Amino acid sequence: MNATEFAAQVKARKARTGRWMAQRPAHPDRSPGVSFGGRTVAGQRGRFNCALLPPPESFYRREGLKLVGRGEWRDALCPFHPDKHPSLRVNRVTGAFRCFVCGAHGGDVLDFHHRRTGMGFVEAAKALNAWE
Ligand SMILES: [Zn+2]
Repeated sequence: MNATEFAAQVKARKARTGRWMAQRPAHPDRSPGVSFGGRTVAGQRGRFNCALLPPPESFYRREGLKLVGRGEWRDALCPFHPDKHPSLRVNRVTGAFRCFVCGAHGGDVLDFHHRRTGMGFVEAAKALNAWE
């Protein structure tokens, strides 16, 4: 191999390496957007922090739900369908809810707020001050 061929090879390798670096996807932690349970919301600054969500019991009371019964799961009138007899089960610890008549369900107060207001995930998180 002569000097010219060697130089050409180095140049080619540099070009390859440069492209490879440029094509490498950004590290997930450094990519723009936020992540929530594996979901990313592109183009959003900040992130959802579930620890900032309001305590479920006071949140649901503020939403006008009357939680009745004892224990972790309470009954309430379902706001997602015309309900005369409490058919919504609400977890006062986690905020999870499930209606046995209309099937409305979710894992926390954010899901509830999202479902009730029609807000997007980020919007609902911000409305509940769970966005930082
Ligand atoms: Zn319902």
